Amino acid sequence: MANTPFPSKRAPIYADIPDDKWNNWRWQISHRLNTVEEIETVLKLTEDERKALSAPGLFRVEITPYFISLIDPNDPDDPIRKQVIPTDCEMVPFTMMMEDSLAEDRHSPVPGLVHRYPDRVLMLVTTQCASYCRYCTRSRIVGDPSATFSRQEFEMQIEYLKRTPQVRDVLLSGGDPLVLAPKILEEILSRLREIPHIEIIRIGSRVPVFMPMRVTDELCDMLQKYHPLWMNIHVNHSNEITKELAEACDKLTRAGVPLGNQAVLLAGVNDNVHIQRQLVQDLVRIRVRPYYLYQCDLVEGAGHFRTPVAKGIEIMEGLRGHTSGYAVPTFVVDAPGGGGKIPLMPNYLLSMSDHKIVLRNFEGYVTTYEEPTDYTPAMAAKYKGAKRLEPGQTGVMGLLDGDAMFIKPEGFDETHNRHGIQHRLKDEKKWQPLGIGSGDKQEP
Ligand SMILES: *Cc1c(COP(=O)(O)O)cnc(C)c1O
Repeated sequence: MANTPFPSKRAPIYADIPDDKWNNWRWQISHRLNTVEEIETVLKLTEDERKALSAPGLFRVEITPYFISLIDPNDPDDPIRKQVIPTDCEMVPFTMMMEDSLAEDRHSPVPGLVHRYPDRVLMLVTTQCASYCRYCTRSRIVGDPSATFSRQEFEMQIEYLKRTPQVRDVLLSGGDPLVLAPKILEEILSRLREIPHIEIIRIGSRVPVFMPMRVTDELCDMLQKYHPLWMNIHVNHSNEITKELAEACDKLTRAGVPLGNQAVLLAGVNDNVHIQRQLVQDLVRIRVRPYYLYQCDLVEGAGHFRTPVAKGIEIMEGLRGHTSGYAVPTFVVDAPGGGGKIPLMPNYLLSMSDHKIVLRNFEGYVTTYEEPTDYTPAMAAKYKGAKRLEPGQTGVMGLLDGDAMFIKPEGFDETHNRHGIQHRLKDEKKWQPLGIGSGDKQEP
């Protein structure tokens, strides 16, 4: 691998653990730390952290020996420490804080399945993780030690997928699918593969980061039986990129699993252009393509991690053009209330006329692009499988490609009803535009 290997660390208390134990994921899982006493064998807790760890009802804490070893024990602001060790800030409520901020429960046709987008679903296969991120967007369901893989729910999910042919992409998440017993994970993958309309399977997992030793040759041999299979991992800071993670990613990519990264923009962890540029460059070095950078959700306990959205825009401004396009993620806000992911970026389009657009580049250089005058678009009808939008699926795409002319917000007609009698402002029989609303009947 190209020059400097990424550092690998073990906290002093693990110095004498034999390698075959340290490198065994089952040992890592069963030696996770979760109490004040255990964590203080590795680092000295602050008062705020100790208070949080002793508070009742807090979102579950578990940290693998491998991951806690990456923390600088002398730095209370260590970016890894903040992700897994709670502080009393978690108990501070904020405006618009929600338990289920993405309204996932409302988009669930069957338990554990979120069908929000037309052609893909999110399938929650477990509530367990290797360690727990303090800003977890699913802290309402994740971490419950009594709830594990539910066969009954799984059968309902499979039944739904069988009868829903528009789903061509299934995203396995949780919890973390890679903490499932290997047999169960394989059963899930093979059952999904039996469904002909499912084209791709994806796994969202932080296991390679929390516990890279789980990525064994056997796991990779099993996964590659179910291609096309993609995976997104979750790295927030370069300090998480170790020799072990690099090796795990190397194994996965050699097994043909393309890797992406989903990072969350977190105050005090990675809310800085320089930290993010280092992160994305270190990721492409280990052949992981930055996929999304998420604005922190409005989830309970995560208030102290939130940044203004402008910070994300500023970071994107500092990435695009300044580094390899492969290293640039899409910055997204997952819309509160269940609107899905909304991409945001700085403006590069300064202005436009009917024949020219004015653009700026990452350096502030302003240029123009002359538009064609003789453009003929492709004829959709000629293409095999070309489909019109599904009925009812409108939005801006419906305005561009469908028959709709405008979109009315709910209640629009009531607020704009001035109880006028039928007349024309000027009694001239002039041409009037006809509006075709989205789904609305044309008024007589
Ligand atoms: C993020 C997400 C997906 C996948 O979205 P992509 O943009 O295709 O990665 C699917 N379903 C739900 C509910 C999601 O939150």
